[in-house]
Amino acid sequence: MRLLVTGGAGFIGSHLILNWNRRRPQDLILNLDKLGYASDRGFESELAHPDQYQFQAIDLADAPRVNQAVRDFQPDGIIHLAAESHVDNSISGPGAFVRSNIEGTFVLLEAARAFWNDVSTPQEKAQPHHHRFHHVSTDEVFGMLPSEGFFDETSAYNPSSPYSATKAASDHLVRAWGHTYGLNFTISNCSNNFGPRQHDEKLIPTVIRNALKRNSIPVYGQGLNVRDWLAVQDHCTAIEKVFFEAAPGSTYCVGGNTEYTNIDLVHKICGILNEIVDEKPAGGFESLITFVTDRPGHDFRYAIDGTKIRAELNWRPAESFEDRLRSTIEWYVNKYAAATVGSLLRGEFA
Ligand code: NAD
Repeated sequence: MRLLVTGGAGFIGSHLILNWNRRRPQDLILNLDKLGYASDRGFESELAHPDQYQFQAIDLADAPRVNQAVRDFQPDGIIHLAAESHVDNSISGPGAFVRSNIEGTFVLLEAARAFWNDVSTPQEKAQPHHHRFHHVSTDEVFGMLPSEGFFDETSAYNPSSPYSATKAASDHLVRAWGHTYGLNFTISNCSNNFGPRQHDEKLIPTVIRNALKRNSIPVYGQGLNVRDWLAVQDHCTAIEKVFFEAAPGSTYCVGGNTEYTNIDLVHKICGILNEIVDEKPAGGFESLITFVTDRPGHDFRYAIDGTKIRAELNWRPAESFEDRLRSTIEWYVNKYAAATVGSLLRGEFA
């Protein structure tokens, strides 16, 4: 098949492409990404079948270029991940989120509709995965939970940050294109991801980087906000399962059943760093934790009831949270150690 992936130079998209390319070498992948500040094409050197991969630097809000790319590539399926993704940035500059997450999704939907309507026969349209548009979304569209309860596929939309509001809008657009124009869509709403190659600004890399530099480790408020964490590799297998096996127009909530308050997670990371890093501060890495002013409108808790994807599609995380967290921390320790050696060699250290 010919698979169009958007946002594939970002964190989750890079994992999705590497896995797909390794396990389905017969498929041709086109990655469309505008190459924003969070992008990194370094993963491409790890492609198992580089001849089955193409890249184009395109902003999804640029309709003529997106339409041309879709017509030229003639995708059989689309997995749409491209989005501005950092909540803090959406508070300081929401315009970029409206442009990428809402307008970009609209442009892509229209390009898919124009191309697929032109070329599909009614027989082809009857096949479950034919011309599927899978939209990768977040549990943040549901707003926040108190200490009890879970989000599931029936939860009402109630987004509170500019990021989650734009993701909610994009979910609504995708559903509307399904109901109005017959687009063969699926949506997944996933909890917080972690793993290698996440941008430095996100919580887990921020904790590790600051710890290794002996800087203070910033934690919002009292660190009592609760998040459900899922390894990026397991999110990607969930996306693949939904893409191939889910009924047209269906939605799946994806989570790891792994809830932590931010402060408990930061302590857990510090504990693993204490074990694997030789030189540590006298009081251990946790002595670097510093509470900072909370994010405005910080959602208290997100948690996913993932019963539907587990029961209907038999999806499970492949490894335990503990093992994934440890291997993730080891990956960042190596990354930041290599960066330090590199800057020492370039004489950048004062
Ligand atoms: P990321 O910020 O690491 O990567 C996003 C990529 O999209 C970047 O390479 C960026 O250049 C690209 N992009 C953004 N706007 C674009 C545009 N207008 N045109 C073309 N490319 C554009 O984000 P991520 O963490 O990999 O998240 C990917 C998707 O998964 C997003 O849709 C996000 O909402 C969703 N999601 C993320 C998480 C998480 O914890 N990271 C959880 C649930 C859902």
